[in-house]
This record gives sequence, C-alpha cells and structure tokens, in this order.
Amino acid sequence: MIEPDLVIRNGRLVLGDSVVQGGIAVKDGKIAAIAADAALPRVGNEIDAHGNFVLPGLIDCHVHFSRITEETEDFRSGTQAAAAGGLTTIFDMPGSDEKAVLDAVTLDDKRKEAESLAFVDFGLFGGAGKGNIAKISEMAQAGAIGFKTFMLRETSYSVDNDIQLYQVLEETARTGRPNCIHAENPDLVDYFAQRLIRAGRKDPIAHAESRPNICEVEAISRLFLLGKHSGARVHIVHMSTKEGVPILAQAKDKGQTVSAETCPQYLLLTKETMRKLGPYAKINPPLREEDDIKALWDGLSSGVVDIIASDHAPYTKEEKDLGRDDIWKAGPGNPGVETMVPLLLTKVNEGRLSIARFAEAMSTRVARLFGIYPKKGSLQVGSDADFTIVDMRKESVIEAGKLYTKSRALTLYDGWKVKGLPIMSVVRGAVVMQEGKVVGEEGYGRFVAPLTS
Ligand code: ZN
Ligand code: ZN
Repeated sequence: MIEPDLVIRNGRLVLGDSVVQGGIAVKDGKIAAIAADAALPRVGNEIDAHGNFVLPGLIDCHVHFSRITEETEDFRSGTQAAAAGGLTTIFDMPGSDEKAVLDAVTLDDKRKEAESLAFVDFGLFGGAGKGNIAKISEMAQAGAIGFKTFMLRETSYSVDNDIQLYQVLEETARTGRPNCIHAENPDLVDYFAQRLIRAGRKDPIAHAESRPNICEVEAISRLFLLGKHSGARVHIVHMSTKEGVPILAQAKDKGQTVSAETCPQYLLLTKETMRKLGPYAKINPPLREEDDIKALWDGLSSGVVDIIASDHAPYTKEEKDLGRDDIWKAGPGNPGVETMVPLLLTKVNEGRLSIARFAEAMSTRVARLFGIYPKKGSLQVGSDADFTIVDMRKESVIEAGKLYTKSRALTLYDGWKVKGLPIMSVVRGAVVMQEGKVVGEEGYGRFVAPLTS
C-alpha cells in the first residue's frame, strides 16, 4: 500500500446497513483503504476512534447562511457551527436579499465568497421562480446542487400560480436536478391568517392555526401531480404533516421519483413549544401535534421520508423579539445546524432510529439524491475522506451560550439533555472539529457540484 497521510483505527465503521470493526487509511484527501486494524500500516498521523462509530461525513442539505448584516450568519460562522455539530458538508439555500442566487453570475459570486470563508464543504442551490426561468439551465451548468422554489409569494424565487409553477418544473426537469419546494398553499395560508387577524389574534398559537396541515397536504399532492406530468424531480423540503407520509409512499410505490426531507423541529417539538418560546418557535411550516411527530418518525425509520436537514434559518434576537406581543411581526425560522446531530443521536440511543438509517438519512441518501454519491455519502475506497465520529455514550447539555452560530440566543433546545455526541468531523482527511471545538481553517471548504449533469 502507498504510505497513507492518515489512518483511523479502532472504529465501528458504518458501511451501508452493516457495522464493521476496523479502520480507514486516507491518502490525498480520499479513502485509500478500509481494513481490519492489523492490516493497516502504522503512520505518524493516526486517530484512535476508541471503538466509536465512524459515519460517512454527515451532510445538512438545507441551511440559510447568507444574510447581509454583520450580526447575522455568514459562511464563516455558519460552517463553524456545522463543523461543531458534526457535519462535513452543507448545502446553502439561495438567500432572499440582493445577493440571492438567481443566475450563474450570482451563483459564482456566492461560490467565491463561500470559498474564502467555509470550514466545511458546501453546495449551493439556485433559486427557481417566475422571474428567472430562463436562468435555470445556466445555474445547472455552473454547478447548482439543485433548485429551490417557494409556493408562497414572498421571495425572489416564488411562483404566483400553477402556470408559473409548471413552467419552473418543466425547466428544472431538463436539468435533471431536484426541485426542492417549500410546499404550502399560499391562498389557504392567507385565508386562515386573515381570519385570525380579523379576530384580533396575535398570540403565538395563532401562527400554528394559520397554517393547518391542509395547507401542506394540498401543496404536496398538487406538486406530485405536476411533477409527474412535467417530469420534474420534486423534493419536498421540511415536511411536517402526518398526511404527507402516505402521499409520499404512494407516489414512490407508483414509481415516481419524489423525495422528502423532515427536520429536527418536526420530530421533536409540538406547537406547545410556541406557548413557552413564543416567536422563537415561529417556523414555516409551523410546529404541529404529537401524531404528526409519530408519523414522521415512522416514515423516517421505514425510509419513506428520505432525509433529515436542519432548515437552519438564522435571525437576530431583535427580529424575533418583534413578535413578542404580535406573533405576525416575527420572522419565521430557527437555527438548527449545530444541535441537529446530538438531538437525533439521542433518539438513536432511545431506539427510535438505527445508527445505519441515521447515517443514510443524513449522508448516503442525501448524496444520492443530489448527485454527489459516491464522492460524498459513503465509506468506500475512492470517496472523499469525510467522516463524522460519534460517541454514543457521551452525555451533555445543550447550552445556547456555547454555540458557534450567531443565532445562538434563538435556539429552541437550550438546556436539553443529549446522549450521543459528534466528537470529530473530518473533511477530506483534515480534522475540522475535535471534542466540539472547531479546529479547521477558514477557506478550507470546497464547492461541491453534482457529478453528473
Ligand atoms: Zn421553507
Ligand atoms: Zn429553508
């Protein structure tokens, strides 16, 4: 064997459905060998995994890092938070300001900015809405990891009606990339919200009531029908409803290429959290009920619900506090990139999900859906040497003040006990986080584009 640059020993390697005792040799940032410890050469640079699980590097495919003021998250703080949270790659959403990614030039600009700041590898979504349908193919050429479309009429990549939605789907279908869609029926959301506003409601729960399950369920059903007809690969982001799971299962059973993500907030919290944390727990779609949580966990463990992402949406404390007396005034969203892995590993420890399915939902299947497998998402010879090492026995308490994210004050999980922690993040052979401390370098992260067009 050629002399490796790094050898990881004494791990429990998660290889697809099986867990194998052994180690990994790394050369030039790629996996050079996977073998029993005794078969691996001794080198200067070794990591003893101490019998902990070694997972293929975890990916958060839904974060919002690019906001424009000094106080809000950027690629530097966001990817530090990601590394600290056990992630090795993130995919950033198009943004909603003047720097929003809507064509090849803005995609390239964001790529350059991120290349100078990122601690972990990153992919970039292009926005795809009524105003930039003609730019979709050039963004695919420039390496967009996928496309993001809003059914709500409030961003620069929204659609106003089904004609525009269909046109966007037709055009993204030509690229072969997934179209990741925020699925809520805007007319119904408007109707329910206006009714509550007229009744004088300003309390936190009014937000949840303004977006009942039907808003998402109708949107998912319509998207799958339009997706089937247009040939688009519809991917539902942040699925939150129990009714979404059987609709997804049925479309898959019929052979349609559809997929869905859910998020920790929909797996761990109900709308009751809004009573306690008010505007901080205002998220779109809203937090729901126990039976939604149960259905999403069941869908996740069976594999119907494909993947988990954070939808990390950083706001300032001021932006959220605006909603203290009037929930309609607060921005929707919540930071989650840094707390996702320990929160979910706690559930793995409780038996809710197997470690293999967790690794699939946060790495392998993400990589497959977005066309970067097996460069990412797999422990196999030739893949990028991206690893997340997790200690399932280690316990901790989430402390907002210790988080790397600039939105630390807004976490919904301050004081939560967790068992199961990421203890090391390795990106292309370089350790970027050790024992919760970020030890990587700004600008190390590389742009990740789909392998096939
Ligand atoms: Zn959304
Ligand atoms: Zn989002």
